[in-house]
Amino acid sequence: MQVFDAIVVGGGPAGSTCAWKLREAGLDVVVLDRAAFPRTKLCAGWVTPEVLDDLEIDPRDYPHSLMVFEELHLHWKVLTAKPKVRQYSIRRFEFDDFLLRRAGARLAQHKVRDVRPDGGDYVIDDEYRSKYLVGAGGTACPVYRALFHDNSPRENALQTATLEQEFAYDWRDPTCNLWFFDDGLPGYAWYVPKANGYINVGLGGMATRLKVKQGHLRDYWRNFVGKLRKSGLVDYDDYDPKGYSYFLRGNANAVRNNNAFVIGDAAGLATRDMCEGIGPAVKSGLLVAASITSGTEYSLAAINKLSGHGIASRVLEHQFART
Ligand SMILES: Cc1cc2nc3c(=O)[nH]c(=O)nc-3n(C[C@H](O)[C@H](O)[C@H](O)COP(=O)(O)OP(=O)(O)OC[C@H]3O[C@@H](n4cnc5c(N)ncnc54)[C@H](O)[C@@H]3O)c2cc1C
Repeated sequence: MQVFDAIVVGGGPAGSTCAWKLREAGLDVVVLDRAAFPRTKLCAGWVTPEVLDDLEIDPRDYPHSLMVFEELHLHWKVLTAKPKVRQYSIRRFEFDDFLLRRAGARLAQHKVRDVRPDGGDYVIDDEYRSKYLVGAGGTACPVYRALFHDNSPRENALQTATLEQEFAYDWRDPTCNLWFFDDGLPGYAWYVPKANGYINVGLGGMATRLKVKQGHLRDYWRNFVGKLRKSGLVDYDDYDPKGYSYFLRGNANAVRNNNAFVIGDAAGLATRDMCEGIGPAVKSGLLVAASITSGTEYSLAAINKLSGHGIASRVLEHQFART
């Protein structure tokens, strides 16, 4: 049995941020992830300045692909708004690996199956033991499943369904574009260019509303990529999009059970408006590390339910204009 002060299950932004701060405070920490890093994570990779601030990353020093957007193009029916906002795109393949290595914790590639409390500690798969346990394993987090699910079931109405693809592409338009409610999609579609010749296109919506409309994401996808081709934004033939589902922030998430915590997507913290999950993952990781090292309360009150982009207010300032 390997014994640690803390075990973090999942090495995405939530887990690596928490491990980073626990290590800084001198705790002996292991991060268990089923994947070998760098690993692919389905995500548009759009991050706010606040995320980089929370991670203490100066964009000028970030050593991988990072693109700056000074303006967004937001489309709704025939209207387009172009609010001025500073936002960034990164590639999750690089970003997550960078954060995890920077954390300085022990890393083990291990798919967690069994999680149980044992005499005031937690034991994972009869192989790892610790006083503190942090569940950062995303939607299918085994810590959430074992210790939180019964008291804090997720709300079906808050489940998203997504389809996306990131690929090498010699894009010409360096603007981030979002299309809201196209063809009745209960969500939005995106075109997010990345530095060093990559692009991410995708779409997502609320799963229950898609079901009611009997809408299939693959049908929306076909229309969407047809539109990208027609508009000249992306002319590509090799689409093979993948899907992933995660939960938006509920009203009463239980996130602590004795010395076990859930953070990021494991806790269902993505924002209710833009479905942004990296920011809440990072913030919850910081809060749990502070709670373990200084005894402060781990409360979601400090994590916004809505995105910090300020997009809504800027759109209202700038108005939509007919395109
Ligand atoms: C298509 C799509 C687009 C998105 N676009 C954006 C965006 O542009 N901006 C934004 O802010 N958010 C976006 N999100 C949301 C964002 O990706 C997530 O909210 C964010 O990744 C959550 O981070 P996390 O660390 O909690 O979980 P994750 O990043 O999912 O990390 C969880 C880790 O746990 C590991 N794991 C899972 N199960 C086990 C197990 N049994 N044992 C060991 N390890 C395990 C996984 O391998 C993974 O590495 C998007 C999501 C999707 C699906």
